Amino acid sequence: MSKSLQAIRGMNDILPEQSPLWRYFEGTVASLLDEYGYRQIRMPIVEVTELFKRSIGEVTDIVEKEMYTFDDRNGDSLTLRPEGTASCVRAVLEHGLSNNGQVQKLWYIGPMFRYERPQKGRYRQFHQIGVEVFNLAGPDIDAELIALTWRLWTRLGLRDAVTLELNSLGTSEARARYRDALVDYLSARKEQLDEDSKRRLGSNPLRILDSKVPETQALLVDAPKLVDHLDDESREHFEGLKARLDALGIRYVVNPKLVRGLDYYSKTVFEWVTDKLGAQGTVCAGGRYDGLVEQMGGRPTAGVGFAMGIERLILLLETLELVPEEISRQVDVYLCALGEAAELEGLKLAEGLRDRLPGLRLQVNAGGGNFKTQLKKADKSAALFALVLGEDELARQVIGFKPLRGQGEQQEISQAALAEHLATSLSQA
Ligand code: ATP
Ligand code: MG
Repeated sequence: MSKSLQAIRGMNDILPEQSPLWRYFEGTVASLLDEYGYRQIRMPIVEVTELFKRSIGEVTDIVEKEMYTFDDRNGDSLTLRPEGTASCVRAVLEHGLSNNGQVQKLWYIGPMFRYERPQKGRYRQFHQIGVEVFNLAGPDIDAELIALTWRLWTRLGLRDAVTLELNSLGTSEARARYRDALVDYLSARKEQLDEDSKRRLGSNPLRILDSKVPETQALLVDAPKLVDHLDDESREHFEGLKARLDALGIRYVVNPKLVRGLDYYSKTVFEWVTDKLGAQGTVCAGGRYDGLVEQMGGRPTAGVGFAMGIERLILLLETLELVPEEISRQVDVYLCALGEAAELEGLKLAEGLRDRLPGLRLQVNAGGGNFKTQLKKADKSAALFALVLGEDELARQVIGFKPLRGQGEQQEISQAALAEHLATSLSQA
């Protein structure tokens, strides 16, 4: 027998039981972004490989070993997007959205692809909601992005489960000076470095700060610190951000080792982390990338943004049992009809109810069955009420109205008064 077909490792189906939580999460974020005046942009999932090499940087985990790259039938090298910022900048440039200093406050949602080792909170297809802002250079907008995520955590009940880590990477010149100091320090201790870090010493030494190897981390305790090499402009920017967060009462920890995985960041970088998900603790990460637009062929344009990992936030809501109960109930009313004439009348009644009560979640029994079977299905649907229509009710132009969740006895309602009765009952339920 042939082996049954399965989804690709690290790429998950989101089943009907899980999608209410996804919709709740996505809806909550979308409303919040509307409230702050951000507009949605939708980019393709596939881009030319060159885009990611040029923006993310050749010597990064993503470009070195995590991309899904393939040749198109005409020989072009294409890549499933591993993140959204590169595509977003590409789209902004292509359509002139940042021309003449126009401010853009954009957001996107969708799947990202990285060839990583699948584990809890780490998948090969995962989903992000990202926000990018163009042409605002000050710390005020950095603070807004953080305030916005803080409000999101509050709305979701996650406020106490996450911590904000902040750092400033300085301008690229300041970072270059720091890189030299770090390389000097680490070169003198090269023998004590792990293999990956040895390799990075020549290519991307800042990433060594990010190393998970304990011996390397121990070596870094006395290493030169990025904060001591900051330029005045970046220092002032960082102070401006911290002052605003203090004013808003948003707590943060300055983490001098926070460097982020991608090459394009400058000045502010931040991560929201949780200790409730094990090793995959970063739920939202971002920072400023003032050099990126130019690096991708545009005019110098300030940029700042972040992306959150939807799977990790969903896991966190589940782990902390913060899934609101009402989001899983998807049916208000279930209509049962017995006999051909009643079925026909029931269908008309149902469509009439949909006209009168927009948004009503009404399921009409399909597939026949006696009343007992139909009521069982009504109960299983988690509906609050069942409507019961048989030959007898039909003849008298009434309908049985049966509360299914212990809110009283079955009643008979005239068909003419049904919509009103239903609206009242649902508003009281
Ligand atoms: P990590 O250090 O966990 O690999 P990263 O720095 O590579 O994260 P970013 O590129 O900044 O992650 O992506 C932003 C967010 O997207 C992360 O904070 C995380 O919540 C989520 N994310 C990143 N990679 C994955 C993945 N493979 N599976 C699930 N979520 C992910
Ligand atoms: Mg990663």
